[in-house]
Amino acid sequence: MDTLSGETCPVCLKKTLTLVEDEKDIPYFGKIYIFSMQCTDKECDFKQADVEAEEAKDPLRITFTIESEKDLNVRVIKSGAATISIPQLKMSVEPGAVADGYVSNIEGVIHRFEEILKQEREVQQARASALHCQVREVPGKEVQALEGKRPR
Ligand SMILES: [Zn+2]
Repeated sequence: MDTLSGETCPVCLKKTLTLVEDEKDIPYFGKIYIFSMQCTDKECDFKQADVEAEEAKDPLRITFTIESEKDLNVRVIKSGAATISIPQLKMSVEPGAVADGYVSNIEGVIHRFEEILKQEREVQQARASALHCQVREVPGKEVQALEGKRPR
């Protein structure tokens, strides 16, 4: 495992980025490289990770049906360029500039989806309460205008 610290963070531009490169041999898959970077600045907290296979393979689609609790332990190797979708939840994670790659298992993938759902719910709640405040403000102003400045 190689670690490089004190690198420049692409988000906050401080020299607080730590780069870690690791390699792993995955049975029936081959050697993979795991890259991760994390900013140690508490306010920034930028992190991103990706995995790359030593041997480049053609794109393929893998469909897996979870049939028992044991299936949750099935290993998942996902690169930043991969799409994962769970049709039953009508959810998918698409590749993109901030898409992470990781080595996990089915249970870990479901947890990641749960985290995304939780974050989205928080954003929606914040939006809903902001809207609620606006709605409450408007009638108050009207009442003031009617009471104070109505021309005779
Ligand atoms: Zn940073």
